[in-house]
Amino acid sequence: MDAEARKRALREQFEPVIDALGFKFTPDAELVDYCLEQEMVLYERHGIPFCPCKGLTGVREEDMRKVCPCIPWHKAHFDKMKRCWCGLFVHKDVTDPDVLMQFPEKEME
Ligand code: SF4
Repeated sequence: MDAEARKRALREQFEPVIDALGFKFTPDAELVDYCLEQEMVLYERHGIPFCPCKGLTGVREEDMRKVCPCIPWHKAHFDKMKRCWCGLFVHKDVTDPDVLMQFPEKEME
């Protein structure tokens, strides 16, 4: 399977999961492409599509919370931002992802 086919496969795998959580892929096609490419690298290295923007610690319980899509683990935080941490996924009603604010979980009221 070539890189494009692998990215397509990841996309198809993620779509029903994020849809059920109220999210969709960001309309920023370049960002989608970049994130999926990085996830493919991590998938080839670890056999798991880990988050491309969170470092792995080597502690299994912590790292398993960084398997994409990690939305269920961080739902309240991501719902507040209307995007996931990387910006790969946004709320279904988002048309312009550039206006969304990214802030750390600890800064939630
Ligand atoms: S922050 Fe986004 S891209 Fe990263 S694992 Fe979570 S859902 Fe996937």
